[in-house]
Amino acid sequence: MLKGVGLYKVFESGFFSKHRIVAVDGVDIEINRGEVLALVGESGSGKSTLGRMLLMLVRPTRGEIYFDGLDLVRMKAGDLRRVRRRMQLIPQHPEDALDPRWRIYDSIAEPLRIHGLDCSRDIIHNLIEMVGLREEHLYRYPHELSGGELQRVVIARAIAVEPEFIVCDEPTSMLDMSVQASIVNLLVSLHKKLGMAYLFITHDLELARIVADRVAVMFAGQIVEEGVDVLDRPLHPYTEMLVRSVEESFELTQRSERSGCKFYSLCPKRMEICSDHPEMVRLGDRKVRCHLFD
Ligand code: SF4
Ligand code: MG
Repeated sequence: MLKGVGLYKVFESGFFSKHRIVAVDGVDIEINRGEVLALVGESGSGKSTLGRMLLMLVRPTRGEIYFDGLDLVRMKAGDLRRVRRRMQLIPQHPEDALDPRWRIYDSIAEPLRIHGLDCSRDIIHNLIEMVGLREEHLYRYPHELSGGELQRVVIARAIAVEPEFIVCDEPTSMLDMSVQASIVNLLVSLHKKLGMAYLFITHDLELARIVADRVAVMFAGQIVEEGVDVLDRPLHPYTEMLVRSVEESFELTQRSERSGCKFYSLCPKRMEICSDHPEMVRLGDRKVRCHLFD
């Protein structure tokens, strides 16, 4: 359903573009209809940029994005607006997605109005109930709601337009532990009920295990491994280390300022050949970017 091919994103800043940051470095990714793909990796690995790029909220420097065969990168702005209804973002900071001067009612109705859809009272009331809040919440302002309630509002706003694909970008990482589980349960139950696909971005491997049909592991702007049981049976040395770092709670630091494998300087299994860039290799239903599996 959604497909990214050869995606790159370079951010440039300073005079004469002195500082170049390659946030996404040649990613191929595919998300099937109704599937939950977890995108895991440490902060700064490019997960959020990749997620926003798939929604065309960030324009790729290079590469292609197809949604049901529609070429989003080359699409005219007006057509893209129509396709946008079918894909939504649930961001990490819900307050960023809501206008502080608006009542919750108007924030939920807004996307429906923009896309010329029915935004009658009944629909808005039904939406607020679907996310586990009450009618009275509709007539409050964002500052009168808790973080968990705000995230529920943002979820209501995202599902209002009946999207087929939602990028959930660390949707619970800013919430208290006690609230996190209830938001995850809500997202899972909405997925079961409505059948949309999720790209579920998280650095929480336990959460990825719970929600995902498939897991992709990102390191230094690249997907290094992808498959169903990646976290239980890691092949890539980075995934192994990531899983162990959670179990043994040590810190990993990203290094990427070199050619060849980006994990080279941290990799316990590095070989001479690893100074050449490893290509993604397919092993059954698994994909892995590492010379150990060439
Ligand atoms: Fe380690 Fe080489 Fe594999 Fe990179 S390609 S992860 S350095 S073994
Ligand atoms: Mg992020």
